[in-house]
Amino acid sequence: MNAFEAIGLSEALVKATADLGFVTPSEIQEKAIPILLSGTTDFVGLAQTGTGKTAAFGLPLLQLIDADAKYPQALIVCPTRELCLQISNDIRDYKKHMKGVSVEPVYGGASIMMQIKALKAGVQIVVATPGRLIDMIERKAVNLEKIKYVVLDEADEMLNMGFRDDIEFVLKNAINRESIWLFSATMPTEVRAIAKNFMDSPKEITVGKKNTGNVNIDHQYYITSSQNRYETLKRLIDFNPGMYGIVFCRTRLNCQEVTEKLVKEGYDIEALHGDLTQQQRDKVMLRFRQKSLQLIVATDVAARGIDVEGITHVINYELPDEMEVYTHRSGRTARAGKSGICISILHTKEVGKVRHLERMVNAQFHKMDVPSGSDVCRKQFFNFMDKLIAVDVTEGEFATYMPALIEKFADLSKEDILQRVASIEFSQLLKYYENAYDLNARTDGRREVGDTRHNGFSKLFVNLGSKDGFTKGQFLQFILDETGLKKEVLGRIDIREMNTFFEVDSESAPLMIKKFDGADFEGRQIRMNDADSGGPKGRTGSGGSRGGSREGYGRERSFAPSDRGGSRGGSGGGYGGGGSSYGGSRSSGSSSGGSRNKYDDRSGNDVQRKRR
Ligand code: ADP
Ligand code: MG
Repeated sequence: MNAFEAIGLSEALVKATADLGFVTPSEIQEKAIPILLSGTTDFVGLAQTGTGKTAAFGLPLLQLIDADAKYPQALIVCPTRELCLQISNDIRDYKKHMKGVSVEPVYGGASIMMQIKALKAGVQIVVATPGRLIDMIERKAVNLEKIKYVVLDEADEMLNMGFRDDIEFVLKNAINRESIWLFSATMPTEVRAIAKNFMDSPKEITVGKKNTGNVNIDHQYYITSSQNRYETLKRLIDFNPGMYGIVFCRTRLNCQEVTEKLVKEGYDIEALHGDLTQQQRDKVMLRFRQKSLQLIVATDVAARGIDVEGITHVINYELPDEMEVYTHRSGRTARAGKSGICISILHTKEVGKVRHLERMVNAQFHKMDVPSGSDVCRKQFFNFMDKLIAVDVTEGEFATYMPALIEKFADLSKEDILQRVASIEFSQLLKYYENAYDLNARTDGRREVGDTRHNGFSKLFVNLGSKDGFTKGQFLQFILDETGLKKEVLGRIDIREMNTFFEVDSESAPLMIKKFDGADFEGRQIRMNDADSGGPKGRTGSGGSRGGSREGYGRERSFAPSDRGGSRGGSGGGYGGGGSSYGGSRSSGSSSGGSRNKYDDRSGNDVQRKRR
């Protein structure tokens, strides 16, 4: 007998599980389904993410509802729109061989009229987010009086998100319910309270250890200084060519910033957060599922509960404010018995949180070293070579070209060809990572790595200020455009009327001074020096000293457009708007035509990356 049949499921449902490739019920399914099929028992199911809870309630629900009765009989409440859609789709898969059953997702952001219409058309199972559901109840568009089964999915999460009153309202409205089924990964007191106040001696099933993460997840952490967070993320992505995952940020703004930077650098990445319209979010999710995006950068709320197959990595670009959230994040990987990696990028002051997390997920965390530039190169190199060997050459019409090719390459040995391929493919990458600096922060406590003021930064003075039309942003852009350095080399910028003090990574400081000091700025000579030694000494602070040429700063250099690859462009003296910090608008003269390469843009930059 089929194992799904053995736990009491109907033929149509057993067939559907087979179609989905489910061979045996997961533990929670095996334990929950027989209980839930009774229809009248209140139930609490505690199981970590990825254990198959959706089918654990979805299958018995389908079996219990009356397909001939055309009104809502089952209500599933879940925290987010994404989850709502996902559960609806899963249930549609399960009911494939059933007739006359329909399921409808109800969530905010989409047309409420359409959803009302759909409900009126005889839907038996409603999957809803709390907000929209209550809206519907208040408009009397949905009547919960005939609801027999209420499912609360991700109950802990809904309570975390402040839906307690909403859930209570819903439960109070479903007055004729026969049972409530609550599913949760954890059992905080608020969830316990719901069970106590609304449920009638519920059967409680716990799968695995309570509050325990998935044993298939390898928890890793990297320690870097906070100004190197982004660079570390990038390096980890580069180091894992097959990475397919979610990067979590704490805020929408950070999410947007990280995404924009990565996109500029050529990664297949999009953001997923609450500032996007529903349509945009759907589009991002679709592209991610289709794997046309390698990564999404998400906020917790937006990515809650999403089940995407084959996620290899979850990255905590920043740790969540609430440690419990870590479990939800990491649960996006290692689903359905697969394994996965959950990476946290920490700065030195956060290292203490690791113990706490270890206790929470009941697993040991592994401290990893941020790979060096040459580690990344080696990894990418062999990955490419493996692809070269594995590529399927049976497709395509290459045959016609072969004779000509063979003739063309007649004098080249295999080694010659490999070398050429490697050179075309990797010279940019090598250049980029050559001399890449060590991103690992020291954790011996001897210095405050996170604090830029004490961490190898020099304070420079320059005689350009707001009077010259600089805002902080423009100043930053100006410096970066001129030098090709990365934003991370700069610390604080203090723009004053006549001059500016700013922090720059000590190793880049001499280069910066060399580049600017004595150069011409709109007919006036720039003076830049170490604020702590040279400083603004002797300046009167009035216009008097501006414009006059100074002794000792004799090198006449000018930022003529020809000197700079022309990114200043534009009209009326703007400061190179539009160029990325890598000088995206700088033409590099790279000839690796065709294949898009993340590192193409940067070959013109001989300055950056020479920090050590
Ligand atoms: P949870 O809600 O517990 O986080 P899901 O219900 O989203 O987990 O299921 C996680 C993944 O496991 C889904 O991709 C689902 O298709 C798969 N899955 C569920 N049950 C089984 C099963 N019995 N056998 C194989 N895969 C399953
Ligand atoms: Mg789930």
